[in-house]
Amino acid sequence: MTYFFEISSPRKETIAKNAGKPSVLFITLHGLKAFNQKQGFSEGNHFLQAFAQLLAQHFDRENCCRLGGGHFSVIADGTNIDDKLRSLIENCKNLNTTGGIHPHIGIYTYENDDVNINMACDRAKLACDSLEDNRTAGIARYDQKIKHEEENHRYILENLNKAIAERWITVYYQPIVRTVNEKVCDEEALARWIDPVKGFLSPADFIPVLEEEKLIYKLDLYMLERVIEKMKYLESQNIPVIPQSINLSRSDFEVCDMVTEITNRVRAAGISPELLVIEITETVHGVDYDFLNEQIRRFHEAGFKVWMDDFGAGFSTLDVLQDFDFDLIKLDMHFIQSFGNNRKNPIIIRKIIEMADALGIDTLAEGVETEDHMKFLEEIGCDRLQGYYFSKPLPYDEVMKLLQEKGVIASF
Ligand code: C2E
Ligand code: MG
Ligand code: MG
Repeated sequence: MTYFFEISSPRKETIAKNAGKPSVLFITLHGLKAFNQKQGFSEGNHFLQAFAQLLAQHFDRENCCRLGGGHFSVIADGTNIDDKLRSLIENCKNLNTTGGIHPHIGIYTYENDDVNINMACDRAKLACDSLEDNRTAGIARYDQKIKHEEENHRYILENLNKAIAERWITVYYQPIVRTVNEKVCDEEALARWIDPVKGFLSPADFIPVLEEEKLIYKLDLYMLERVIEKMKYLESQNIPVIPQSINLSRSDFEVCDMVTEITNRVRAAGISPELLVIEITETVHGVDYDFLNEQIRRFHEAGFKVWMDDFGAGFSTLDVLQDFDFDLIKLDMHFIQSFGNNRKNPIIIRKIIEMADALGIDTLAEGVETEDHMKFLEEIGCDRLQGYYFSKPLPYDEVMKLLQEKGVIASF
């Protein structure tokens, strides 16, 4: 790889001098891992060798490199490169009699910019990553959209500590109501990043970046501290405090002992653990059942309730009901949002609520937007509701005003 990067710089100059478009390719063999598992490593190695030969035939040996695993890089003239890539993909099909391996090709083409080969390769990889979920061969270019995402990613990383220290990140609260009386019984704390340069950023702009970089624990502990601060303030003013839920991401648990971190902060503040609810999202990938169960048990032991967020958004949901000891499940918004769109949807919602009820697990429906949603959920016995029908997530002042109007708290 080092040698490839060394010889690629002069090669790039030559292509540019000859009025070509210097381009770097990043190629990933999608499905190689499964192929290895099924056919054995020796077959996998043969495939890699055959693919390397193919690459050399298309782009010449000295322009190609295997970076490691099923990843290759190529320096090439991007002018009319698509025909070559299509031929590469076609020929790869012939190597691949089982059909399980598909090349994903990312392309970065130089545009008068000062980018070294490493970075060009990283950008080609970003383009390639955008094909991640495709189960067929594909070609993707580093374009404005990917460029914007890359810049956003870098901005978030470089500014996280400052956003925390300067409190650019703030907590919005969304009320949750009890279905039987429509009284607010909890609030969910949701992060907003109000940036002096970029303006209002919603979780979709920064949560995935922080999760990927395993830095989300910083945000989550900061959110907890802000929620505790609010509860302390309300207590000092003799204003009743209703339970507040905070969201945790799975990677929090990989980086630190979340149960201890949370328990210590809540104890130090003298807040009752019953007032804090932990929301954990079910994701199928990489769940260590025993580990997660142990964390839930420890949260319970410390007095916290644990809710499962986005129930039904993944694949292994029934396992989750069976194997984990959640106090409540939050039905993923997509169930309610497609309410009435088809015959099956209300049946599924009803049965989930019935099943959870029989298992002694409370239920909450997210994304309640209309009176029809509310009436249906009431009829089938869903315990709690959350959604724009009642209120959007609001900044502290506004949510307090709303709670006063609704008579949850007296004026202060
Ligand atoms: P979530 O925890 O499932 O939160 C519910 C999301 O649904 C929120 O989006 C909320 O604004 C939105 N929502 C609520 N009611 C309605 C409705 O009636 N209709 C529609 N269309 N949407 C509704 P938001 O605030 O953008 O948060 C998105 C996700 O980001 C959250 O999903 C949560 O997974 C994550 N997140 C937010 N704050 C934090 C945080 O502090 N830490 C972690 N780890 N994740 C967070
Ligand atoms: Mg949540
Ligand atoms: Mg949710």
